[in-house]
Amino acid sequence: MMSDLALYVHIPFCASKCRYCDFLSFAGRSGLINRYINSLSDEISDSYDEYGGRTVSSIYIGGGTPSLIPEEDIGQILKRIREVYEVRPDAEISIEVNPGSADAVKLAAYNSFGINRLSIGLQSANDDELSRIGRIHNRSDFEATYRNARECGFDNINTDLIFSLPGQDKDSFRRTIEYVTGLKPEHISAYSMQLEEGTYLYEHSDEYEWPNEDEDRDMYHMGVRMMSDAGYGRYEISNFARPGYECRHNTVYWRGGEYLGFGIGAASYAGGVRFKNTEVIEEYLKGIRCSESTKLTQADMMSEFMFLGLRMSDGISRAGFLEKFGKTMDEVYGRQISSCVRDGLIREDDEKDRLFLTEKGFDISNYVFAKFL
Ligand code: SF4
Repeated sequence: MMSDLALYVHIPFCASKCRYCDFLSFAGRSGLINRYINSLSDEISDSYDEYGGRTVSSIYIGGGTPSLIPEEDIGQILKRIREVYEVRPDAEISIEVNPGSADAVKLAAYNSFGINRLSIGLQSANDDELSRIGRIHNRSDFEATYRNARECGFDNINTDLIFSLPGQDKDSFRRTIEYVTGLKPEHISAYSMQLEEGTYLYEHSDEYEWPNEDEDRDMYHMGVRMMSDAGYGRYEISNFARPGYECRHNTVYWRGGEYLGFGIGAASYAGGVRFKNTEVIEEYLKGIRCSESTKLTQADMMSEFMFLGLRMSDGISRAGFLEKFGKTMDEVYGRQISSCVRDGLIREDDEKDRLFLTEKGFDISNYVFAKFL
């Protein structure tokens, strides 16, 4: 039986470029929105030949700033998806919203399209920090969007946070978490700031005071503790949810499920092949799409099973590995597992079926994952 698909739709437009952002997004190109939406609709229609009729259990509209474009465009995309795919009645349908870019009318329209999960980018509850990283909203803009969303009936809201921001200390991050948990969203993502080449903050990094590595880990541990006390379980390294509100869409990525991405730069994985669309918008508007594709070997899939699955708090299963690959996990990775267990980075459950990162493993997760590459 075919598994369900997860669909991702990329909307690359933003009101301005945040100083830390290296996502595929542009400011000042809103003149292309109409043509882009038409190309997206065509891409979805054309996917019918290969995937039409497949069942979809999650859709994620991300960016960029999807809430920047007219709501009718979002409606058109979802309508087209429903014409091509069998979207489950209980599918999780998420959209990313930036504070200040979605008023009550827009939010109500999303609701009427069947969108049932909002992801609102707050990043910090401290206005100084927001302006330092080039966000164009402040905390009260966020709060207005959040309250509008609740009034429109959204009962599944994620709030995105970033820590280790320039000029941030532990106390300031504490205030952000107190503020967010006080609002009681269903889900919180909290990522450590990564300085990416080519961004404004990368080029100007010496103009700012940055938290050092110990301070970064201190903030993370404090965040995990505070969110746990407030009822949010860490189900993945950077993702926290009230019970039952774990993001189903992202879980598909971490569990090696199949997904299709539409729009520039969007990645897909189906039938054992990973493929990616062009990142050049002019090409995409002319109907040029796939720019690269790779057939994954069994070794690639086994490696992904390990390092993606270990991101999740409930870890990976030896029985699951055997069922999927016809080999035992220890036959393939016995040496790496023993060394990680010995170093206190991975622990096993009592039945010795599941493996999980320890707290120390979470702290140096990239080092652990590299062992399985
Ligand atoms: S809103 Fe998001 S995608 Fe757009 S520039 Fe800022 S961080 Fe990047």
